[in-house]
Amino acid sequence: MYVDFQTIKAADWEVPLAGLLDLEDPKSKLANLKDRLEPISIYFYLIKHPKHGTYMIDSGVGESFTKGKDQVPVSSLVASQMNFDKLKIYETTKSFLEKNKIQLKGIFFTHLHLDHVMGASELDRNIPFYVGPSEMDHSQFINVFVQGSTNRLLGENPNLLQLDFGDVNSGSFVFDFFGDQSFFILSVPGHTQGSLAFFIPSKDGGHLVLGDTCHTRFGWLENIIPGTFTTDPKLNRKSLDTLRGIATYQKTKYIYPGHQERIISKE
Ligand SMILES: [Zn+2]
Repeated sequence: MYVDFQTIKAADWEVPLAGLLDLEDPKSKLANLKDRLEPISIYFYLIKHPKHGTYMIDSGVGESFTKGKDQVPVSSLVASQMNFDKLKIYETTKSFLEKNKIQLKGIFFTHLHLDHVMGASELDRNIPFYVGPSEMDHSQFINVFVQGSTNRLLGENPNLLQLDFGDVNSGSFVFDFFGDQSFFILSVPGHTQGSLAFFIPSKDGGHLVLGDTCHTRFGWLENIIPGTFTTDPKLNRKSLDTLRGIATYQKTKYIYPGHQERIISKE
């Protein structure tokens, strides 16, 4: 059984490279990388299961973000720090779903940083919003800063469910969501406590959605963890190693960094 997998680019943006990539890594230094604005994209993904319906990973960008800097539904402090002038939106979530006549059965968040919940306010409150273990009850420094805005986008009383992968000591980190090996959720703590990644088998070698455990193409190709956007760099390192192991072991064809174009593995 295979699910149908689709990537949608919602927007282009620019953010500081020092957030996306560990510039202290020897390979960053070797490449003489310095902090600057780096072009990124905001993506969401669709999982269409032949029996269980359509699910979404991350929430894209909401209509309200197209109305100019002063209208964005986040606090002005957050807006002023987030370089919204550079946000170029191609597709808003609600219009995409309507246009394609998609009734979602649920949504998974790779994590709850602001750039992953910007479409959440447009989604049906009655469908489950799945997040990783402890994603809701850990307040990280970057989340504290945007918490009010994140809550506003998630809504007053969303149907939020934290996935439970069992005892941390048991070492289990993979969850076969539909129970038919068509869609695997991976617990990859580090970038945030409850960060998730996803492995979707396909006839030609599968898709690995990294989330922000690795934001950039360069980060994946050179094996470098994110920079200041990551909460726990050591744990992020471990999770990135895990994902690299899966990519190798599963001979994964398509790798999706959190914010840049996919990498197609060579045979
Ligand atoms: Zn992100």
